[in-house]
Amino acid sequence: MNNKRIPVAVPNFLGNEKKYVDDCMDTTWISSNGKYIKEFEDSFAKFLGSRNALSCSNGTVALHLPLIALGAGPGDEVLVPSFTYIATANAVAYCGAKPVLVDCLPDTWNIDPEDMRRKITSKTKGVIPVHLYGNPCDMDAVMAVAKEHGLFVVEDAAECHGATYKGRCAGTFGDMGTFSFFGNKIITTGEGGMIITDNDELAQKMRQLKGQGMDPNRRYWFTERGYNYRMTNIEAAIGLAQLERIEEHIANRRKVAGWYQEELAGMQDYLSFQAVTPHAESVWWMFSILLTEKSSVSRDALMEKLDGDGIETRPLFYPMHVMPVYADAAAACPVSEQVAASGMNLPTHAMLTREDVRYICGCIKKHIGAI
Ligand SMILES: *Cc1c(COP(=O)(O)O)cnc(C)c1O
Repeated sequence: MNNKRIPVAVPNFLGNEKKYVDDCMDTTWISSNGKYIKEFEDSFAKFLGSRNALSCSNGTVALHLPLIALGAGPGDEVLVPSFTYIATANAVAYCGAKPVLVDCLPDTWNIDPEDMRRKITSKTKGVIPVHLYGNPCDMDAVMAVAKEHGLFVVEDAAECHGATYKGRCAGTFGDMGTFSFFGNKIITTGEGGMIITDNDELAQKMRQLKGQGMDPNRRYWFTERGYNYRMTNIEAAIGLAQLERIEEHIANRRKVAGWYQEELAGMQDYLSFQAVTPHAESVWWMFSILLTEKSSVSRDALMEKLDGDGIETRPLFYPMHVMPVYADAAAACPVSEQVAASGMNLPTHAMLTREDVRYICGCIKKHIGAI
């Protein structure tokens, strides 16, 4: 029996986090002015290869602002994968537009470009592809459908900071890319988000919107009804320190994913992994497995048994179209339902040792009847 609990996610602070936060306290710059905000934004834009980066209070409003700026509103439809975190659909609904739920591919679990095509109507304005669990979408295919139908593209890159497709960072293919820095993401600021775009005009518009709509050249003069969606200097200070070591954060995740693949090799009769999109490099936000019918326990039973072994797991996201808020009997996303029902996220973070992963995989193999 193992007494240690192994959590699914743990943030880790490898560098200057504390030093920069102390600096905010010492200088009293703790709110949404201060040097770390610009430094974090500039470094983030540089890291991803984008002209503009705008910090904001979380990854959900990082989706809301682009949708407003791109003009999504009542009467419009925006394509969203059903198999995602609910924030993607919520942001569309906040604008008064309708999220139209699209099925996922059975191997990569990302948005199915053919189902996108089927769900396009005369009202469709845009699409939000989600790079699920750190795995970039096939952006050539997504962009081709978008271009064909004149759709805007906002990439929800909340889970995939630094993941690449054909050598380019996820988030830089569409009109905008959005990121989250929640405590369990690739890098964190506690709560926080970022929007990237090469379009200076849209960037300027969103900068104004996130600060209550204040005229950039005239203080306390408001020309638009905006929002308070700002990040604090303390959050940016943590973010900058995290970003300084992002290559290490990503390398740690790739190492853990590699260990899982090794330890669970040859188990394909019992379980499968999320396939990485061709030409892509995942950052493995969450390493996940799907159980096959040969497993001697159900997904939920396995999660419970692993919990008894001191191992925390999470069910994959429930598809949007089966939950009351976005219930849509006509959505027809059978692949999302099937994947979501049989899969779980395994612990994926830098504090895991090779021994931990061997222990986790040993428990899984025993419970599913593979050994
Ligand atoms: C985490 C996440 C978000 C939202 O981020 P918050 O910072 O929690 O608001 C949006 N989309 C996806 C796919 C996410 O995983």
